Amino acid sequence: MHQCDLRFDRDHIWHPYTSFQDPLPVYPVQCAEGCEIELTDGRRLVDGMSSWWAAIHGYNHPALTAAAKAQLDQVSHVMFGGITHQPAVELCKRLVKHSPAGLERVFLADSGSVSVEVAIKMAVQYWAAQEQPAKNRLATLRGGYHGDTFAAMSVCDPVNGMHSLFRGSLREQLFAPIPQLTPDEPWDPTVIAPLERLLSEHQHELAALILEPIVQGAGGMRFYHPNYLTEAARLCRHYNILLIADEIATGFGRTGRWFACEHADVSPDIMCVGKALTGGYMTMAAVLCSDNIATTISAGPAGGTFMHGPTFMGNPLACAVANASLELLEQEHWPTQVAAIESQLKRELSPLLHLPSVADVRCFGAIGVVEMQQAVDVATAQQAFVDAGVWIRPFGRLVYLMPPFVIRPEQLTKLTQAITELAQRQ
Ligand SMILES: *Cc1c(COP(=O)(O)O)cnc(C)c1O
Repeated sequence: MHQCDLRFDRDHIWHPYTSFQDPLPVYPVQCAEGCEIELTDGRRLVDGMSSWWAAIHGYNHPALTAAAKAQLDQVSHVMFGGITHQPAVELCKRLVKHSPAGLERVFLADSGSVSVEVAIKMAVQYWAAQEQPAKNRLATLRGGYHGDTFAAMSVCDPVNGMHSLFRGSLREQLFAPIPQLTPDEPWDPTVIAPLERLLSEHQHELAALILEPIVQGAGGMRFYHPNYLTEAARLCRHYNILLIADEIATGFGRTGRWFACEHADVSPDIMCVGKALTGGYMTMAAVLCSDNIATTISAGPAGGTFMHGPTFMGNPLACAVANASLELLEQEHWPTQVAAIESQLKRELSPLLHLPSVADVRCFGAIGVVEMQQAVDVATAQQAFVDAGVWIRPFGRLVYLMPPFVIRPEQLTKLTQAITELAQRQ
């Protein structure tokens, strides 16, 4: 075992959203197996994060590891320009099969943010191809998160996103309020009115509405009423605006359906997937679009060429692992697992609502959120969690769980117990 040089790490390596001024501690990981992450000092932590929604089958899963090893012996990467391969073809077949009806054309991208860029580019090119270049802006919802690249940033929540820092470099998009109705409240049609106003007033300059279906993830961990999505899709059709569903966090079973759009019976025009696509093994994402969009772009100017092509597009290693992950999902154990996680999260987290430090508790699918009254000190909380044998990373006032689907009840209890203790201490 090699010692991890934490000093070099602190002095030279950027971690996500960090500063060299006052770096937060990082914990060196040796290996991970199932739902446990093992640190270099031998301590084992039950994982509550699935490495940001990705590791849905747990770590070092025999089927995924075998698929990666087998593909490594064939070819780990080859350019996708002018070349194709069975792992990519098989993966795209599966994606088309499991996606909402009508999504039939697939663009393989290399990360979630890139897939959002690709989706936006498709929407803009779709209107350009029909000689409507004025339709090039985006509408979205406040409280959203769509990634860290520039077009993606422009549709993140303007307050908790990075808009003030990058004002001047970001396209100004149009924002509807956060949908205020949760999935278990009775439907109230008036909540859709602000979105309707926005879309009707700006229809002539709008290429698309982009949103996270049902679950707003990194922008605030909120859940909204499926009818809101149904209505949003109807309004998009009515005002001739494309609908882009960002399923990067919600896709592949997390909300109890293959894709969260299914809660509202909605087929978007364009859909982004990522995160859990490879079961957390490799970076890979995909954009699916309707036949109409692909055909229209292809008949347009620029010789009908869709103008995007990442170097690592269709990476065979990532495709092979994604196929193995989707094969596991096709065995359909996950609906029962996700339902069991949801009811256990509700049972064990709801009592926290009575604590003075807690503002809200909400659970949906295999996602449990405890919203505190005050921002949580990440370094202190993380240390306490590690000492308790769990891996949970709070964010602002939010302490949340999105464990691997294969987590055992006693492991999940360890996670909810650690959050309970944190909430009692605050
Ligand atoms: C994580 C995420 C992204 C960005 O994906 P990356 O792989 O981090 O670039 C975009 N949209 C949503 C909804 C996400 O959760």
